[in-house]
Amino acid sequence: MSATMRRVVIAVKPGSGWWVDAECRGVDPAVFHPDPEVVGADVAARELCASCPVAEPCLEYALAVREKDGIWGGLDEHERRKLIRRRRRAAQKVAD
Ligand code: SF4
Repeated sequence: MSATMRRVVIAVKPGSGWWVDAECRGVDPAVFHPDPEVVGADVAARELCASCPVAEPCLEYALAVREKDGIWGGLDEHERRKLIRRRRRAAQKVAD
């Protein structure tokens, strides 16, 4: 189990919360940390996330803790950073 996945298990009590319904329960965490040098290495993780019933809380968790690595809620670290920037811009427009 990677350090990233351990953090999730610690943050969300096993047997409660969104984690219990995760499509990736029992899947090798390495699947969610694909080699960026290998084209298509992220496909398996993204397919699991696409059919996961808890993709939204998973993504929000990763955004909240500023998870730096891996695929969470179907988004990789670059996509999450873009989403955070988009949300900040949108919030700023509302505030202006
Ligand atoms: S969205 Fe993806 S990473 Fe998150 S719990 Fe579901 S399968 Fe796992």
